[in-house]
Amino acid sequence: MSERALRGTRLVVTSYETDRGIDLAPRQAVEYACEKGHRFEMPFSVEAEIPPEWECRVCGSQALLVDGDAPEEKKAKPARTHWDMLMERRTREELEEVLEERLAVLRSGGMNLAVHPRDSRKSA
Ligand SMILES: [Zn+2]
Repeated sequence: MSERALRGTRLVVTSYETDRGIDLAPRQAVEYACEKGHRFEMPFSVEAEIPPEWECRVCGSQALLVDGDAPEEKKAKPARTHWDMLMERRTREELEEVLEERLAVLRSGGMNLAVHPRDSRKSA
C-alpha cells in the first residue's frame, strides 16, 4: 500500500469515530418523543440521571421520555409459577380448608373411589 492510500483510510476512520463518539465514556441512548410525534435519541452518560422531558430537536416543543424497555422494569417481573398464581387467589388457610374438605370427601367414599377400610374407619 502507498503512503497516500494509508493516509486516506486513516482520515475516514477518524471522522467516523468522532461522529459516533466511540472514544467517549460509556453512554446510553435515551429516546424522547414530542406530542407531534417526533422521536429522537439523546446520548447520556450511563451514570447520569435521565431527565423525564427534553426539548424536541425538531420543533422545540416539550418531548417526553420514551421508557419502553427500562432494565429495572424487566427485573421487577420475575417469572410467575403456578404456585405464585395460586397464592394470589388463596391464602394458605383457605387451601388447607379446601384440602380438608377434599380429604373428608375421599374418606367418606363420596367420590366413589376405592376406599381403604383403614380410611373409612378414621372418618366414621
Ligand atoms: Zn417535535
